[in-house]
Amino acid sequence: MRVAVLALQGAFIEHEQKLSQLKVQLFEIRQRRDLDKPFDGLIIPGGESTVQGKLLHELGLFEPLKKRIEDGLPVYGTCAGLILLAKKIENDERVHLATMDITAVRNAYGRQLGSFHTEAEFKGIGLIPMTFIRAPYMKEVSEEVDVLARVNGHIVAARQKNQLVTAFHPELNDDLSVHQYFVDMIRETSGRE
Ligand code: GLN
Repeated sequence: MRVAVLALQGAFIEHEQKLSQLKVQLFEIRQRRDLDKPFDGLIIPGGESTVQGKLLHELGLFEPLKKRIEDGLPVYGTCAGLILLAKKIENDERVHLATMDITAVRNAYGRQLGSFHTEAEFKGIGLIPMTFIRAPYMKEVSEEVDVLARVNGHIVAARQKNQLVTAFHPELNDDLSVHQYFVDMIRETSGRE
């Protein structure tokens, strides 16, 4: 199994460290020709969704990645990655890859609560640490979407078939369980070890 990490901007190195800890082969996508290499899953890291969205277009990555996700490539978006995958963004006119039936609210916790740490239940895993940094949450999700975690009543993790999103950053904590969950998702889909 090989997992690609979108390495244009934001917290991609931390995801790579998690994948290495799980002994998963990884490589970075920085330009269009990186897509010629085979890969079984993709991580879109936290950062700034507007910047990442713009770079995806400028580098010619937008259309091919959107198509692969629509065709079933397992993808995991954290924070800005969640915003990039959302079909609707409540407080932004622009949408990006727009492959997942969720409505995201950007910077949803306001200034004071911009960044915080908590623990909450993640469906199928249990209680895990969650670090939020100027994070979004999901206001609405379609029936196709499985809600995996809530914090203060807001949806902060969800899955729709091959797509997984978290509003928080598991790559910033010691816990490996969300990355393990994604690796298991890839295994289910690709049958690759
Ligand atoms: N606030 C950022 C955005 O809207 C997301 C923050 C993050 O990824 N940590 O893109």
